[in-house]
Amino acid sequence: MFGLFGKKEETTKKQACDLPFLCWQCEMSAPGGCGSHGESKGVCGKTATKSRLQDLMIYGLKGLSAYREHANELVQEVGDEEARKTLKEVDDVNSETLYFTLTNVNFNFDEHIAQLMKVGQAGVKVMNLLSDMHTKALGIPTPVEVTQNKAEGKGILVSGHNLDMLEKLLKRIEERGLSDKINVYTHSEMLPAHGYPHLRKFKNLKGNIGKAWFDQTDVFSKWQGTCVVNTNCIVPPEKSPKVKNYIDRLYTYKITGVEGAKKIENDNFDPLIDHTLSLPDITGFDSDEKIVTGHHYKTVLEAFGPKVLDAIKEGKLKRVWVIAGCDAPGRKRNYYRELALAVPKDHIIITSSCGKFRFNDVDFGTVPGTDIPRYIDLGQCNDSNGAVHIAMTVAQALGIEDINELPVSIALMWMEQKAIIILLALLSLGVKDIYIGPNAPQFANEDIVNFLVENFNLGVISGDIHKDFGKELAS
Ligand code: SF4
Ligand code: SF4
Repeated sequence: MFGLFGKKEETTKKQACDLPFLCWQCEMSAPGGCGSHGESKGVCGKTATKSRLQDLMIYGLKGLSAYREHANELVQEVGDEEARKTLKEVDDVNSETLYFTLTNVNFNFDEHIAQLMKVGQAGVKVMNLLSDMHTKALGIPTPVEVTQNKAEGKGILVSGHNLDMLEKLLKRIEERGLSDKINVYTHSEMLPAHGYPHLRKFKNLKGNIGKAWFDQTDVFSKWQGTCVVNTNCIVPPEKSPKVKNYIDRLYTYKITGVEGAKKIENDNFDPLIDHTLSLPDITGFDSDEKIVTGHHYKTVLEAFGPKVLDAIKEGKLKRVWVIAGCDAPGRKRNYYRELALAVPKDHIIITSSCGKFRFNDVDFGTVPGTDIPRYIDLGQCNDSNGAVHIAMTVAQALGIEDINELPVSIALMWMEQKAIIILLALLSLGVKDIYIGPNAPQFANEDIVNFLVENFNLGVISGDIHKDFGKELAS
C-alpha cells in the first residue's frame, strides 16, 4: 500500500538485533545458557530464530494474560455462557502455547508462525471480550471533555487500566456518604473512564491529572492526596528517588505491588478512603486545559458511521490514520506528535492507549464540510480492537474485501507486552503495512525481521515522518 517497501525494509533490517539467543530452560543447557557464547543453536538443536520466536510467543502471552485477567473479573460479574466459552478458548491457547515452548516439542518454523497467529487470534478474542464486558458493566462510552490538571478538595488519583476497581471505589465512597468530601481523578490509562456512563454519573469523578504513566513520579510527588496504581506501568522506588516522596500515600491493587506501598486487600477501600480524609486538600492543580476522550468504536459506528461513509464517497474524508500505542520516556516519540500535526485536514486520526498523551492537547477540529471529529480516542490499549471494527465496517459498506485496500496508515508506539499482543492480533487478522517504533524489538533477529517485512510489510519508523509517510501526508 505504501509503495515504500525498499526504504522500510532497509530501515527495519538496520535496527534488528544481532545478539545471540539465550535459552537456559533445561538441564541440557550449555554453561551460562545456550546461545550465550554465540552459538547459533542450542544443545537440543533449537535454532536461535526458533528460540526467539518462542520468546515472542511468551511476550504475547504476557500481554494476553493481562487482558484475560481484566476480562475474567468482569465475566464473573456480568458475563454469560458465551463469554465464559470465549475465556476458556483464550485460556486453552495460553496453555497450548506454553506447552509449545517446552524442550524438544517443535522445531518447525512454519508451525512457530502458525502458533504465533493463534496467540494473535486469542488476542483478538480477549480484546473483543473485554470491550464487550466493559460496555455491559459500565455502558457504552460517549465523547466527553475532561478537565486536565485541575483539582480541589481531598483527592484520590487513580492510574492504570482497571475500570472495575474504579467503579468499586466510587461506589464505596458514595455508600459512606463521602461523595462531596472526596474527589477522584484519573491518571494515564484511566483517562477513558470519563466516557463510560456508569462511571461519569459519579459527580466526584472529576478530571484527569498528568499524562502517560512515566510522569507519575512528578505528578504523585506534587499530589497531596492518595494515589492508586491498579495495573502495570508503575515506577518502582528502585527506578526513581522521587517515589519516596509519596510511597506512604501510594496504594496498589491485586497483582500490582511496590515495596513500601499499601495494598488494597479484598476490595476493602476503607483504609484508602480514611487515609485520604486525613490528608490536606489538593492545591497547585489549577489549569484551564481540557482534553477529549470517549470515542468507543460502538459510539463511533453508531454516531458517525453513515457520515464517515458519505464523507469518503464525497471525497471529503480522504484517509484514516491510526497513531496509537504505548508512551515511554524519550524524545524519539516526538515523531508521533509531529506526524499527528502533519496529518492533512481532510484526514482523521484514531488513537488509543497512553501514547495519545503525545498529542491529545491539540484541538484537531472536524473534517471540513462535516461534523466528523478529526481526533478519535478509542480508549485504553485494550480498546485498540475498535480500529479493526471500524475498518471492517467501512470496508464492508464500501464493498472492499481486503481492509489493506482502505486508505489507512498505521503508526504504532510499542513499549511492553500488551503492545505485542495487539501487534500479533493485527497480524493474525492480516493487517499489513504497519509501522512500529520508535525502536525495533530486540528479540527479533534478521530472519524474523525478513519474515515480517516480506509477509506483512511491517516496518520500524525511520525518525523522519516524510521518509516514512511522505506520499500519504501529501494525499
Ligand atoms: S531447550 Fe534446548 S536451547 Fe534451551 S536450554 Fe535446553 S538444550 Fe538449550
Ligand atoms: S498503553 Fe502501554 S505503556 Fe501505556 S499504560 Fe497502557 S500498558 Fe502501559
